[in-house]
Amino acid sequence: MMKKQYRISMALALCGLMLMLLAGHIEQPRSAAASASLLIAGNGEAALYAGIQPPAGQPTRFGRDALYQGLLLFVSREHPLPADLPPQQSRDVRSLVGRYIPAGEHVSLSEETIYALCDLAQENPLPETWIVEGMRSPLEQQAMQRETFKLYQASMPVTEALALAAENVPDSGRSEHQLATAFDVQLNGRHAWSASDPMAHTQDGRWLLENAWRYGFIRRYPPDKSQITGIQNETMHWRYVGKSHAEAMRLSGLCLEEYLELLHAQGTLCLVDGEGRETWLLCRPCGPEGADFDVPEGWRAEASADNLGFAVCALTRD
Ligand SMILES: [Zn+2]
Repeated sequence: MMKKQYRISMALALCGLMLMLLAGHIEQPRSAAASASLLIAGNGEAALYAGIQPPAGQPTRFGRDALYQGLLLFVSREHPLPADLPPQQSRDVRSLVGRYIPAGEHVSLSEETIYALCDLAQENPLPETWIVEGMRSPLEQQAMQRETFKLYQASMPVTEALALAAENVPDSGRSEHQLATAFDVQLNGRHAWSASDPMAHTQDGRWLLENAWRYGFIRRYPPDKSQITGIQNETMHWRYVGKSHAEAMRLSGLCLEEYLELLHAQGTLCLVDGEGRETWLLCRPCGPEGADFDVPEGWRAEASADNLGFAVCALTRD
């Protein structure tokens, strides 16, 4: 008996060793710049590196207001959006592209998010998916908290109802729905109502989990990251962060919290695709005046504050 168990465990150990050796030999896409670097993650088609110098460029100032319209803002109960900023710019999804994107009444999102959704819907129209909630203004967030309180008050004392409403619906400025890039979906497919995670149990949901990153979307609060995000009941909440950041997060398996931590620690990351094309991801301190990034000629820069004291700039060749 012992001998058989020993043989099985030896065989398993050998298999593991062979897999490790094979994994070590998978060729990762590299560019000239990435030759003396630290590989953060790679899948044979794309790779994410750290520890390399970005191309030299002209120092360029990005103002605070513009950075706070960016794609990588981190918003939570502990990190509300600054109250002095104008709300993010958004458009009504139905009136703009209602024919292509099934959305509830008064769902509004940024134009960039809406057009990225249109690109995605062109590849897969997702017949069982609805966008039911988008950006909420601070007033709408307050109204939602009031409504939730009223609902609870019917069945419990006022103080308890107040506390529970505040727990389940964050104060205005402290919910990611104050961003014009965040939205909730509803799935109508088989198992949509019976499963604890309809995203993983419906056809549309699985497609989104597998493909949405290619259009710049992330599932913001994955169930397996709830210890890090602190959010458990937002399995249907998605967010547009742009293609570069979505691909970097997908490759590395990091959620937004972890990804920003990596950027803060490294300062510079380089994403290399299968054809050797580079996208540089630069992270620099962000003050009241904004943030400075070196932008090389012929490169496009897309910068965003992260609301944690830094700004992140994605550089791609024009
Ligand atoms: Zn949500």
